[in-house]
Amino acid sequence: MLAGASLDNSVNILPEQAPISVKQEASRDEMLSLMRSKKVASLLVLNDEGELVDVVDRSEIEDQILLSPPHLSQLEITYIKQALDDNWVAPAGPNLLRFETELAQKVDRSHALALSSGSGALHLALRVLDVGPGDRVYVSDMTFIASVQPIFYEQAIPVLIDADPEHWNMSVPALERQLAKDHAAGTLPKALVVVHLYGQSADMGAIMQLAESYGVPVVEDAAESLGASYRNRPSGTDGVLAAYSFNGNKIITTSGGGALVSDRQDLIDHARKLSTQGRDTAEHYQHSEVAYNYRMSNILAGIGLGQLSVLDDRVRRRREIFDLYKQELSDIDGITFQGEPPDSRGNRWLSVIAFDPDKIAYHPYTVLRRMRERGLETRPAWKPMHMQPLCRHLEFMPHSDIDTVSSSLFLRSLCLPSGTAMTDEDVRRVAGNLCEILAEG
Ligand SMILES: *Cc1c(COP(=O)(O)O)cnc(C)c1O
Repeated sequence: MLAGASLDNSVNILPEQAPISVKQEASRDEMLSLMRSKKVASLLVLNDEGELVDVVDRSEIEDQILLSPPHLSQLEITYIKQALDDNWVAPAGPNLLRFETELAQKVDRSHALALSSGSGALHLALRVLDVGPGDRVYVSDMTFIASVQPIFYEQAIPVLIDADPEHWNMSVPALERQLAKDHAAGTLPKALVVVHLYGQSADMGAIMQLAESYGVPVVEDAAESLGASYRNRPSGTDGVLAAYSFNGNKIITTSGGGALVSDRQDLIDHARKLSTQGRDTAEHYQHSEVAYNYRMSNILAGIGLGQLSVLDDRVRRRREIFDLYKQELSDIDGITFQGEPPDSRGNRWLSVIAFDPDKIAYHPYTVLRRMRERGLETRPAWKPMHMQPLCRHLEFMPHSDIDTVSSSLFLRSLCLPSGTAMTDEDVRRVAGNLCEILAEG
């Protein structure tokens, strides 16, 4: 219109760099191959008179590959049906008890408590450790906000510990300095929440040694690391308590849910009471402490049983997907992956890549948008807690005096589709498009 055309004109009168158009009869495949070859994100659809009748976006007609969608086995329906047939819809029931027993076995812990979310599990962990108003709680800075929110619920004060440049989990040097500082000031924390980021175990040997030497109890936020292992034991066996999540995007799911595990029966018993409104042992309804409605339902535990039976397969597949990405992207200079320390085996919940900005010109978000145009869902890495508006006032201990690792990771990284239902061909499609986009940049 700037060039003098009106809405009644045919699109053909537009100059050289005109948008690419197709006839109304064009098939989906024709449109896709045209957009792929011309490297455009949308097409104008014209009728026989050359008038615009539609605009088709490539992202609408490409087959979508999502970041980490649920992947059901065949078994969930059996357990759910059993619960419905027996009218064990609510409250607790056989699926729930069996799910807890099997989960505890799987993660090599004496006790498991199934809950409505991983966040609820972390909250109860803090409650049973008696974390309260004004208490300090150390927590990994590079994580999802759910690691930190429960600390706020209790009006306790999170202290943020930076990440390690190799494996992206809690930095041991930063933790060591913070502990020494707080020991000297007489302000040691009431608890330490350590996250196993993207399914990769933190350096638990060193972290446990430090925490024990200062007498600080450790809670593992193992929401992302179910099925991973560290020194030949399941992830989530080092701290006094550990929390798992069965949210829809995690390695296995109950649609929404979580669990708290421990070897300490007293802590799990207290957590169980707090998860069911804190009812005292009495015939009548009597309550002596603030509590919650956090219990998992018997129906959802049925989904959990089906999912638990395929956990090992899911871990194997996530690791295959990670290896295939690594292989397919090996020609690109300037991409690195989250490290796996010698003693550990991650579940590779998400395959995440970090760009070297000296070698790759594109910002990860440019890549994210281009990938989205092609029906491929990628996501930024977690935004570190010290960069969150909610956390700006909090103390933060960087990895070293000259190096903040978490913010650098955040600005350089991209999470790739990692769902276990992906075929090798799907992974190659993601990697191929990524290579193509990076080559342009
Ligand atoms: C998903 C997640 C949680 C919370 O689990 P929900 O079940 O969604 O409440 C906590 N911490 C981390 C690191 C997570 O990724």
